[in-house]
Amino acid sequence: MATTTLSLIHGGHDAAIGDKHEALERYRRAADPAVADGLFRAARRLREQHLAPAPRLSADLRIAAPCTLRRPCAFCPHPPRSAGEVGDVVAAAHALVALGYRRLRLSGGIRFPRPGEPSGGHDAQVIRLVLALRAAVDVDIEVDVGPSLTRDGVRTLKQLGVAAVGCALDVLNPAVFERCKPGDRLTERIRLLETCEREGMPFRSTIRLGLGETDEDRIGHLFFLRRFPMLRHLDLVRHAAYPEVAAPGCGPWPLARLTAVARLLLPTLDIGLASDAGIDDVPLWWLAGGGSEAVGATVTMARRREEEDGETRLLAVGERLVLRDRAPALQRHFADLGLDAGIGDGQRASPSSPAQARESTAEG
Ligand code: SF4
Repeated sequence: MATTTLSLIHGGHDAAIGDKHEALERYRRAADPAVADGLFRAARRLREQHLAPAPRLSADLRIAAPCTLRRPCAFCPHPPRSAGEVGDVVAAAHALVALGYRRLRLSGGIRFPRPGEPSGGHDAQVIRLVLALRAAVDVDIEVDVGPSLTRDGVRTLKQLGVAAVGCALDVLNPAVFERCKPGDRLTERIRLLETCEREGMPFRSTIRLGLGETDEDRIGHLFFLRRFPMLRHLDLVRHAAYPEVAAPGCGPWPLARLTAVARLLLPTLDIGLASDAGIDDVPLWWLAGGGSEAVGATVTMARRREEEDGETRLLAVGERLVLRDRAPALQRHFADLGLDAGIGDGQRASPSSPAQARESTAEG
């Protein structure tokens, strides 16, 4: 009898997963906390083997580009309709660096590249911002404007030393995607991931739970992403119910179980919580083998009414921007787990690449 099958029968303590069917079984069986205990322990062992021992906090500047979708996504109450000027972005970066951040994500809304445009989508906009950031601060830069980049845009960002490009697929079930993201195009998002893969550009993607996807969809999404060696970061986030689009929502327990299965399938991957994830999900995410990056601060265009929520302090950056800093609250949560969450770079404990680690597990 195969080791993995034995381990499944005895509660899933083994770190190897053979195929989609086994992954689904382990995900489902872990609904029982007694079984989840073994799954989570195996996932944590892999994280300890491949990643830094403590989490690191990064920052997200959500002011890079406007969203041009006429029909916004169901889970996006405030799509950015305008973007920061170069001076805004540089001021925000200085404010974040002063707080200690060394890894900044430049994110925003989307604009699909149009055939024949010399510089499609948001290429020109984000290249301008990256050049300004490069001249102003010494930080790692990521760019996430969804499927708004062309191949030439990706090439230029790579030449500029951008650490990664982000493009969430959110949900791989086309019908659910269409219902929750009526103005968006899944095929365009997959195109960008394939472009990054071809161009050797590291990338980040996101899985959203609770939009109406099945267990099979969730596991299938992990296996789909597993085919990309340039995938370096995966964010997971769960959503509340959206009755108007028949999205049932997802609780913290399925999120934790999927985190653990993701760790077993992608041992060296940075499995983060998305920047819009709830802070209360942190302990289970960490116990389930998540890590090692969490978003500690976000910057947006200031709205008319801004409210602190007890876990987030608000700092004005000039008159147009607001910086939401939840690092102190996150660090308290991590300190409860005996962890010292650093703001800044963090170091990988192992030099092995995601591709190497994937080769050590069977293909699905
Ligand atoms: S594409 Fe992004 S910014 Fe635009 S509506 Fe959807 S989630 Fe919001």
